Amino acid sequence: MGQSNPLRSSRLGSQATDRFYEDLRQAAKKGDPVCWILGALITTPMVTSMDVPWVFADALAAHLAARHQQKRPQEVADEKGYLRETCSYTRIHMGCTLLSDADRKQVMDWQVPNPDLVIITDGCCSEWVEWGDDVRKRFNVPIFTLHVPFLWNDKDRDEATDYVVSQLKEMNTFLEDTTHRRQDPAKLAEIISMGRQAQDMRSHGQQLCRNVPSPATIFDWATALGAVFNSWGKPESVGIYKAMKEEMEQRVARKEGAVIGEKYRLCWDGMIVWPEFGPLSKKLASLGANVVASAYMWGFFPTLMDPRDPLKSIAWNMVDVWPNRNLDWQINHVAQFCEDYKVDGLICHAHYTCRALCGQQMELMDAVSRKLNIPAVFVEADVGDESFYSEAQVDTRLQALLEMIDARRKVRA
Ligand code: SF4
Repeated sequence: MGQSNPLRSSRLGSQATDRFYEDLRQAAKKGDPVCWILGALITTPMVTSMDVPWVFADALAAHLAARHQQKRPQEVADEKGYLRETCSYTRIHMGCTLLSDADRKQVMDWQVPNPDLVIITDGCCSEWVEWGDDVRKRFNVPIFTLHVPFLWNDKDRDEATDYVVSQLKEMNTFLEDTTHRRQDPAKLAEIISMGRQAQDMRSHGQQLCRNVPSPATIFDWATALGAVFNSWGKPESVGIYKAMKEEMEQRVARKEGAVIGEKYRLCWDGMIVWPEFGPLSKKLASLGANVVASAYMWGFFPTLMDPRDPLKSIAWNMVDVWPNRNLDWQINHVAQFCEDYKVDGLICHAHYTCRALCGQQMELMDAVSRKLNIPAVFVEADVGDESFYSEAQVDTRLQALLEMIDARRKVRA
């Protein structure tokens, strides 16, 4: 019935990702100190502004899973005693470092440089602290833990932001002491400025997805995710999102959708099922279903950026992000997306091994569904472990969702 019509420009994000990991390996070979970052992505400007190469561990795991290169590292992590219930990102990332030399030679991106220091965020996910402690002990390296308070109420935002700013100053001292490099304030401000320009382009592109048909799907945004994860604060990320925005504008003018024959507009709650990325996007498109909105894809990433106050900008984006907000806030947030993007139904991806994002999902799904009178379904899978994915289950749930949408349309007609 429908056909996938991916954006060409979103591939620029995956090309940038390849360059990023190659640069990282070269820097480690040269003897640069390597920082591993677990937790909030937005700590990366602190490290980049000192010219310290880094790995954002979640992003590497997602990247490998999307390319079907996650299985062997996961097997090795299992063999070494990591429980299957442990976050699959942790098992993939740590598995890469536990591979034999012969294994590591098989895939370039398995050659993750070992850390010289680690930065973790103690925030909305409990995995980060445990994972960081494992890294500290395994590699005997210094670690800095930054605590991000949960934002129960808007009135607490300023106090929480100031608290995080004070810790960022301590983090700066930690980084200078451990790497023997100085932070360059002008460079930090420039990174924040670039991040803001990229986000402006990204937000503009996101708004274009309100059009019917939508010029992009979350799978296009996911393909370009490397531009957020790895190129954030670099001029290339501005270029990638500018190219996407322009391609989308051209599509809107031609009324060309990312799904040819768009019949259903859906919202996706939760992360991407990376190992099934390609087949799932094609399956949805073949049903005429375009996933046009996603709290994860748009709500997780740096938005409030002021180059005049880089530390406050970084702190804002740790405190005031969607997974750090209470359930009522999240329900209103997802419901607003569904209204703005003219969504017909909601898919909630319950990740088997993610403790941060799925605990509240059943309530969220029920509340959004009742509030907007749209149907919703639950799909059990995982971000990085394909053994939790059942195609038959996904087919049944998708079929049920689309039938419910059709039935409600008939009643309304
Ligand atoms: S448990 Fe979830 S939020 Fe935490 S590191 Fe794993 S995937 Fe990320």
